[in-house]
Amino acid sequence: MASIFSKIVAGEIPCYKVAEDEKNFAFLDINPMTPGHTLVIPKKEVDYLFDLSDEDYTSLQLFAKRVALAQKAALPCARIAEAVLGMEVPHAHIHLVPIQTEADLNFRNHISLPADEMASIAARIAAEMK
Ligand code: 5GP
Repeated sequence: MASIFSKIVAGEIPCYKVAEDEKNFAFLDINPMTPGHTLVIPKKEVDYLFDLSDEDYTSLQLFAKRVALAQKAALPCARIAEAVLGMEVPHAHIHLVPIQTEADLNFRNHISLPADEMASIAARIAAEMK
């Protein structure tokens, strides 16, 4: 059965899309730690990040770098933190989280933003993609 993230890539489940290229896809986390918390995934469904081929892993990380630079340009934050857990969804993904302080990267803390704000944040990041 396809993962929930494969269904997002296929357009079968809605998301706040940030960007995509041939191999990779970026969208807002539905339960963000901070505004603009983004997930970057390979379109190919592989559970564990470090099982990706060197080529696919490198492609994903270079795509994540482009997304992080766009987040930094679009949102007020000190840095973009990158984290990998993968304990919930068995489809490799990188968390890119805009942070002001170390305490902002807290996987037990989530905020809820209205749909129009999520859409606006995704559009602002998308507009900064190079
Ligand atoms: P992890 O697997 O790294 O522990 O966490 C999975 C992340 O995916 C969580 O931060 C969770 O909020 C996010 N997530 C789970 N299901 C969905 C979904 O259907 N849509 C979106 N946009 N994010 C999801």
